[in-house]
Amino acid sequence: MSIPDTIAAASRALREGSLTAADLLDGVLERAQMTEAQLHAYLNIDHDGARVAAEAADADLAAGNDRGPLHGIPIALKDNLCTRGMETTCASQILAGWIPPYDATVVSRLREAGAVIVGKTNLDEFAMGSSTENSAYGPSFNPWDITRVPGGSSGGSAAAVAAGSALGALGSDTGGSIRQPAALTGTVGVKPTYGTVSRYGLIAFASSLDQIGPITRTVEDAALLLEAIWGHDPKDSTSYAGEYPQVRRSLDAGVDGLRIGVVKELSGEGYELAVEQAVAAMVEGLARQGAEIVEVSLPSFEIALSAYYLIAPAEASSNLARFDGVRYGLRVDGETTEEMMARTRGQGFGPEVTRRILLGTYALSAGYYDAFYGQAQRVRAAIRADLARVYAQVDALVSPTSPTVAFPAGARLDDPLAMYLSDICTIPSNLAGDPAMSVPIGLDQLGLPIGMQVMAPSLGEEVMFRVAAEVERLAGFDARPEIPVVAG
Ligand code: GLN
Repeated sequence: MSIPDTIAAASRALREGSLTAADLLDGVLERAQMTEAQLHAYLNIDHDGARVAAEAADADLAAGNDRGPLHGIPIALKDNLCTRGMETTCASQILAGWIPPYDATVVSRLREAGAVIVGKTNLDEFAMGSSTENSAYGPSFNPWDITRVPGGSSGGSAAAVAAGSALGALGSDTGGSIRQPAALTGTVGVKPTYGTVSRYGLIAFASSLDQIGPITRTVEDAALLLEAIWGHDPKDSTSYAGEYPQVRRSLDAGVDGLRIGVVKELSGEGYELAVEQAVAAMVEGLARQGAEIVEVSLPSFEIALSAYYLIAPAEASSNLARFDGVRYGLRVDGETTEEMMARTRGQGFGPEVTRRILLGTYALSAGYYDAFYGQAQRVRAAIRADLARVYAQVDALVSPTSPTVAFPAGARLDDPLAMYLSDICTIPSNLAGDPAMSVPIGLDQLGLPIGMQVMAPSLGEEVMFRVAAEVERLAGFDARPEIPVVAG
């Protein structure tokens, strides 16, 4: 059946009684049925669990127990979020068959809010990548052009939302993995301030950078989903315990009087013309709505990518040491314990994960620590200082989310550096711990989506959503992908 394609509209329809949570689930499962052969957004759809949850949501609502805007809404989860009783693989062979005994905090919060968990979405193995091609279970594809990638690493979540096989999804963002796939699939993706969404139950990649966040069709939906998952959690020692921004109330405030910085370093060589033109047109639109536009320079952004590719692999090499064939998933036997561990890790990790572990281990080794990791930490401090200087002059920053639109499958697979460059615009916010989000602003000449990134200082989600909502209104982006239906 055809169902509303936003959380807000579905939520209203549920309360008007024009449809049920069971209908919403039917609607997304029907879309999945029509599109999964082409997209492979999901690794695993939990038909039974979702059905039970949808029926419980309906019974709850009928009994007058309204759990708020996510009640009865079908949501997909990136498969690096632990789900009790449901296989969680990180798209890696090393976790094949692993069933977590607990829910991630974000998953518990969604269940408490009455959301219906549809299933687990595909990703680059351990969230390392920008195309979802590094999945051990095969790539996902882009609903706008099934010969192209959906971005990554949360490509399955983004593809599912763009295709309508979920009304919203959670992803994780270490260097851009929510925002870049959102940009490439015409969806909204938010990386919240570091510490505001609990990482408990998120399988760690680089702990000082990882954040969970929403991928949705609209800015309002992103606000609804974010408000459901964030908040202090004593189970995450980096969790923020102060007062949280109120994002929903800022959506209609407009940009009149706001000072918006355009980042000089995030343009020029390597940026597609259509992307630059769409962003420039949007900046003019914001100016017409009363924003004061300021060109700003953050020289440290030029070296952010290099710093990231030392810090992220260093933390990953340490985090991934736990996958040893003893505690989780895969075990490949050997004569000795050491041989068992070496074989398990050798067979269990794919090539990109292996590359990161090697890079990280090397960067942290005696004699190199200061030259590599120490230097990268100094770059991180420089980025924070640059941002502090700029945020004294402006309220928010804008840039493209990704220098290019969705690229053809396979195009960057043999060139890790080209793949790494996909995140050139998104990485600085992770290194700084600041919030940033992507909003669709149009299509290029091939009909592929373009995203604009809005960045704000730590805990600046109110101003970030204010700008994002205006960008969304100005863009009027309501195009939907036409996915060829394969008979079968
Ligand atoms: N593409 C980047 C990487 O491969 C970012 C990934 C992410 O944010 N998880 O590390």
